[in-house]
Amino acid sequence: MGLRTAEQYKASLKDGREVYYRGEKVEDVTTHPIIGIAVDHACIDYHMAEDPKYRDLAVMTDPQTGDQYSRYYHLPQNTEDLLKRSQLIASSTREGATLVILIKEIGTDALYALHVVAEEMAKRGKPEYKERVEKYHRMCRDRDYGVAVAQSDVKGDRGLGPQGQEHPDYYLRIVERRADGIVVRGAKIHTSVLTNTDEVIVLPTRAMKAGDEDYSVAFAVPANTKGLKLIASSYGGFKKDPFEYPISAKHKMMETITVFDDVFVPWDRVFMCGETDAAGFLALTFVKFHRFTAVSYKLPLLEMLAGSARAIAEYNGIENAGHIREKLTELAAYHATVQGLIIAAAQNCVVTPPGIAIPNVLFTNVAKYQFASNYHDAVQMVQDVSGGLLVTGPSVEDWRSEATGPFLKKYLGGKKGIPTEHRLRMMNLISDLTASDFGGYQEVLAVHAEGSLEAEKLQTYREYDFKTAADYAREVAGIK
Ligand SMILES: Cc1cc2nc3c(=O)[nH]c(=O)nc-3n(C[C@H](O)[C@H](O)[C@H](O)COP(=O)(O)OP(=O)(O)OC[C@H]3O[C@@H](n4cnc5c(N)ncnc54)[C@H](O)[C@@H]3O)c2cc1C
Repeated sequence: MGLRTAEQYKASLKDGREVYYRGEKVEDVTTHPIIGIAVDHACIDYHMAEDPKYRDLAVMTDPQTGDQYSRYYHLPQNTEDLLKRSQLIASSTREGATLVILIKEIGTDALYALHVVAEEMAKRGKPEYKERVEKYHRMCRDRDYGVAVAQSDVKGDRGLGPQGQEHPDYYLRIVERRADGIVVRGAKIHTSVLTNTDEVIVLPTRAMKAGDEDYSVAFAVPANTKGLKLIASSYGGFKKDPFEYPISAKHKMMETITVFDDVFVPWDRVFMCGETDAAGFLALTFVKFHRFTAVSYKLPLLEMLAGSARAIAEYNGIENAGHIREKLTELAAYHATVQGLIIAAAQNCVVTPPGIAIPNVLFTNVAKYQFASNYHDAVQMVQDVSGGLLVTGPSVEDWRSEATGPFLKKYLGGKKGIPTEHRLRMMNLISDLTASDFGGYQEVLAVHAEGSLEAEKLQTYREYDFKTAADYAREVAGIK
């Protein structure tokens, strides 16, 4: 089939999937007043593939068949592939006004990890997984699918693994092995974009041990599979005017609590089944790719923080004040640090069987940690530069009203020569970015998505070459 149009993508979502939003079953996600925003946001991916400005970046050609396909489905083999993928992710997020599209980014991160792990399992005498992963990858590529990833389990008591919990279903598990496949039960949480993708790949969320065989499972199913119930997140559930909410009126990502109520998975879609020793390997390999995706999609957001702070400083007439320049410098350095670490991660990649380039794990985790641990401080700086109007400003209705509009125009001006409307529009942008429900979403996304701060610190500790550093210290100290 090759590349799809946005219309073909939207049509494919009318497939009887079981989605719930605020207590009601959603008959058609594409026309739903809130989920429909997420669908239109995801269409950016398909529009970019047709846009001459992005086509070379977004589309690749199969040298054997001549078929065209989305770059996301290309297995990265070297630094150049990783940098182009990163550039595509950043460009599409820019088109999405700082919000990642994600319908192919996350799914292909999982596919890359499945290839690496299946290769290893083939070496251990189980070639069937490799064949299945390759076939599934080819299908998603050729049908230009959107693919979500459900890795995070609901987890119950975080101090325990799958065993010893109040009930056995806090981690998704196999409840039946049949001749034609497996039946799984459990719930994954925080699953981004599944309301509007064709497929979902399910991965284990952690390392497993003996006795965890039923929890060591990976597979993929279509979004409309019987027994799969998607309970959609509720944040930002009201109709917004783009004047007041220039980002979130048009851009949205949905998460779901994804319930697997005894879902049947045929064998050709099962990629791990009981291999406790490979579960952690798969979980971690996915994260190696996914954190690189994460830092790539953060770049437009960091640029927006620096850019909007600079613009509002000018409109308020304070751009040359010492403390403002200091804050703008911090914001610029924040953006540049993450950007530089992405390039370093791609340049220092490691090519792993079957020939897939994994971004450097240390630089990727440091980039993600730098981003996540500084995000709230950066928001504080932008809010500081802007002023309290971020939350006390007028509604779009008052701005347009004949009774109140002229007063607002007169009194909400800033620096001479700057139209009041420009100042108000910039305030609204910063308010949406940092002080709206969307701003809160971005803050939690910064801390938790793609793993919490501790997860990134752990990887940094593991990957850093302490031995060489300590040997150097001993040498200079004169210790043999
Ligand atoms: C907007 C958003 C989108 C997301 N999208 C996806 C997605 O598409 N697919 C997906 O699979 N996941 C997704 N995630 C999930 C994300 O990876 C998790 O939120 C993250 O891993 C943290 O898990 P948690 O939310 O369950 O928090 P918890 O694990 O409960 O973490 C809360 C705190 O507890 C600490 N903690 C947890 N366990 C322990 C322990 N054993 N010992 C000590 N401390 C512990 C953590 O370090 C953290 O400080 C998304 C999350 C967000 C916020």
